[in-house]
Amino acid sequence: MSVYLDNAATTQPCEPAVSAAFLSMVENYGNPSSLHKKGIDAEKAITEARKAIASALVCAPECVYFTSGATESNNTAIFGIAQNYGKRRKKIVTTSIEHPSVSQPLKYLEENGFEVVRISPQRNGQIDYQSIIEAVDENTCMVSCMMVNNETGYILPIKRAFTAIKRNFPECVTHCDAVQAFMKIPIKSTELYADLISVSAHKVHGIKGCGALMIKRGIRVAPLLLGGGQEKGIRSGTESVPLISAFGAAVRALQPGLHQALKNAEELNAYIRKEALKIPGVSINSDIENSSPYILNLSVEGIRSEIMLHFLEEKGIYVSSGSACSKGAKSSVLKEFGISDKNADSALRISISRETIWSDIDDLINGIIDGCQSIAH
Ligand code: PMP
Repeated sequence: MSVYLDNAATTQPCEPAVSAAFLSMVENYGNPSSLHKKGIDAEKAITEARKAIASALVCAPECVYFTSGATESNNTAIFGIAQNYGKRRKKIVTTSIEHPSVSQPLKYLEENGFEVVRISPQRNGQIDYQSIIEAVDENTCMVSCMMVNNETGYILPIKRAFTAIKRNFPECVTHCDAVQAFMKIPIKSTELYADLISVSAHKVHGIKGCGALMIKRGIRVAPLLLGGGQEKGIRSGTESVPLISAFGAAVRALQPGLHQALKNAEELNAYIRKEALKIPGVSINSDIENSSPYILNLSVEGIRSEIMLHFLEEKGIYVSSGSACSKGAKSSVLKEFGISDKNADSALRISISRETIWSDIDDLINGIIDGCQSIAH
């Protein structure tokens, strides 16, 4: 038995993605910069993928730049904007619950002359969008806020924040790490007022090592890598045609069913909540109203996350303790949400996908019940 409930860490590549990657390795293996047919075919595959990502984000294809993943997209966004817009305006506004691929570049900038203001969730675990708006002033070069938190699924009120910021300070660049939202909850770049959006392929049934950064027309991002000038100079290096083609194929396959999948995820999420809360000692850490249904964080009183994680693993059930990126390291993000140390130590992140079925949830719940009995005694 294999019940994979760690989709916020990564997803299984879907068949269209695998086929697209395979095709571009065995047949369409040209260098997109080559002038002959093999090169032109490879270039065409990238163009098609770019159109697919652009259509999903509701932006022009020219605004989509491929990268090696969302870590690179986030780094490019932050360092690239700081370099071009941060010469005089030294303030950056963000939140205290960002992914390390945002928080670490910002920490670096802070150590190198920038002022970084981090907005924390309030006592109810929610970020007050007014606090983000109020933190921005004429000295602010950038605001960077994620759309969905990867540990709890909490949906940040960035649309309201970005709209007001762009109205008050049009010069302030807005960046959104939309990794856990993309292809799960509808995102329209036009309505979000985001100048930059980061997404990742392997979270949407594509392949690891590929992502994209949407850059709105007129926004000047300085590249991290210099070289052959691919991706209009924003990301030099021969494009990974197999991974990019797979990303496009995955997005094309997912897009038509997004709303139905969201509904299904909501039902599955409600079912996990209902059944999990019947287990003595279980509490739910994810906000009930403002969370992505694809992620649910819960705690099992008195049982450390890793112990339960490995117990479930023995049964073929795969979940995560907090964030997979932190490899079991204590999560400061859960603390930011007001989750006690005790609950953070026993936190499990359940993350579903379109492939998740009802019996997966039954297996998970039975696994946790067994775990509570076996581990506690
Ligand atoms: N941002 C968020 C919110 C994420 O969840 C992740 C993946 N854990 C990343 C960025 C980094 O993405 P990638 O693995 O493509 O570098």
